[in-house]
Amino acid sequence: MIYFVGAGPGDVDLITVKGRRLLEEADLIIYAGSLVSEAHLAFAKPSCKFYNSAKMNLDEVLEVMTGAEKEGLMTVRLHTGDPSIYGAIQEQMDALEEGGLPFEVVPGVSSFTAAAAAIKHEFTLPEVSQTLILTRRRGRTSVPEKENIPSLASHGASMAIFLSVGSIEELVEELKEGYGRDDVPVAVVYRASWEDEKQIFGTLADIAGKVKDEKVVRQAQILVGDFLKADYAKSKLYDKGFTTGYRQGQK
Ligand code: SAH
Repeated sequence: MIYFVGAGPGDVDLITVKGRRLLEEADLIIYAGSLVSEAHLAFAKPSCKFYNSAKMNLDEVLEVMTGAEKEGLMTVRLHTGDPSIYGAIQEQMDALEEGGLPFEVVPGVSSFTAAAAAIKHEFTLPEVSQTLILTRRRGRTSVPEKENIPSLASHGASMAIFLSVGSIEELVEELKEGYGRDDVPVAVVYRASWEDEKQIFGTLADIAGKVKDEKVVRQAQILVGDFLKADYAKSKLYDKGFTTGYRQGQK
């Protein structure tokens, strides 16, 4: 059996209980060495074999999985954050399916939620934004034209932008165009939940310079939107006068 497991954003304890249990049982662990903490490997049994997928291509990864399956071994394919977001797991799953190999996916804590936790903010504030856009700038990987940053930003919704801090200057220009103003707050969180985490706060007007000063060029979440401001309406859910399925509102 093959398990695609979300390792979480960095902190070794931010993996699910199920993910940790599978790591303990695995005969083989193929991990994305660029962003997955090696501390996860300490939970494996002594006989477990490790493969760093940062040094492997898709065929090599599939070969290892297929070989293990033939021998009746259990493989964990450990991905950073949640595997369904920029995890490149679809091509692996499709190949396994084609080969008739059984697999399961175990979700993980994504870096966008870890970044919000690190800076202690909520993406979905009443009357500010009830929508969160997860996206990236085009880079070596293209992005469909309809999903260009100005058009996504034009909604004024909360945004969590992956894989884009390397071109923060261009990104900020596109965001300004979309939001139509440059006082929108931005938080850049470098390596959320790792020991060397950094948090940089600003607005579209000044964040690019601050990020350059801190020399952050990779592994960062760029969180954008008015949810980072202090003023918002309190939620109805915990309002004294609001009736829910669990609680009668007071008059
Ligand atoms: N599947 C992962 C994303 C992989 S793409 C997830 O769910 O988080 C890699 C990008 O994710 C990085 O370029 C960065 O934008 C973001 N990222 C991953 N780990 C991060 C962390 N600990 N802190 C901030 N951003 C992170």
